[in-house]
Amino acid sequence: MTANEKSANNDHAGQVVVITGGASGLGARFAELFAQRGAHIVIGDIAEEAAHKLSASLGGTSIKCDVTQSNDVDALTQHAVSHFGKIDVFINNAGIAPIPNEERFATAVANQMLRLENNVGATTPLNVITDMTDEEWDHMLKVHLYGTFYGCRAAARYMTPQRSGSIINISSVLGLRPTALAPHYSTAKAAIIALTKSQSQELAPLGVRVNAVCPGYIDTPLLAPMNELMKVAIVSQIGIGRLGVDDEIAEMVSFIASAKASYCIGEIFSVTGGYSG
Ligand code: NDP
Repeated sequence: MTANEKSANNDHAGQVVVITGGASGLGARFAELFAQRGAHIVIGDIAEEAAHKLSASLGGTSIKCDVTQSNDVDALTQHAVSHFGKIDVFINNAGIAPIPNEERFATAVANQMLRLENNVGATTPLNVITDMTDEEWDHMLKVHLYGTFYGCRAAARYMTPQRSGSIINISSVLGLRPTALAPHYSTAKAAIIALTKSQSQELAPLGVRVNAVCPGYIDTPLLAPMNELMKVAIVSQIGIGRLGVDDEIAEMVSFIASAKASYCIGEIFSVTGGYSG
């Protein structure tokens, strides 16, 4: 698609689009693309200043929102409605990544080599589950799973009476292919898939579509704490041989939010570049 064709895209004209975690990375790109295509943007993020700067530059609005707090998420939807009168699209995107552990990652790679040599008995324990604290587990589930639940619930309260709307939950390829290195993240993202399917069944007859997107590894600030070895090991498992870029997820999200996706309900869209990890 040429730049001219892209700018002529009017798929979101007049839509009110709420994005959690919209101050950075994927969420920020969603905001820009939807605004380019005619939407009114509302960002809720803990990064208050960055959210304000971006939303203002797009003619939208923002509010400080910690998605682990249901009151904040309810306030975000109220903010959107008081500014723009309705909500057409609600994107549950806010997220955090587990802090990478270099030593453990190197052990996992060494273990993989031992497996290839058919020497599984010599592998070193990773101790991911045994070392995990209650706080680490709870926080990961709170941000991703509880945050998405709060967003779905708040959005549905507005969309159901409207008899229209699109809720898009950002899961992950790790929700489909869990990794031993991040059981809390993988579990939260898998649960988001179940929540999406469950909620879509309740809301479809009421005109509200609920879908999820499972990005593969995308080059955003979320991956910044990874070292080069980690990135090389990940890329070696990606068919296309590189990390994804934000636009490659934003285009999928834009499609799902548009009228073109009217028959997409309870679907789980993977965008992974052929990840086989
Ligand atoms: P970024 O870190 O670039 O952006 C995430 C945004 O969410 C940040 O602005 C962050 O603020 C904000 N945030 C974090 N915690 C909260 C919270 N409790 N309440 C509200 N906002 C919060 O990450 P990405 O854009 O890469 O990730 C977006 C989503 O995509 C996440 O759900 C992630 O799990 C998912 N994803 C990303 C992949 C990738 O490879 N990048 C792959 C698969 C899924 P702050 O910067 O202050 O933390």
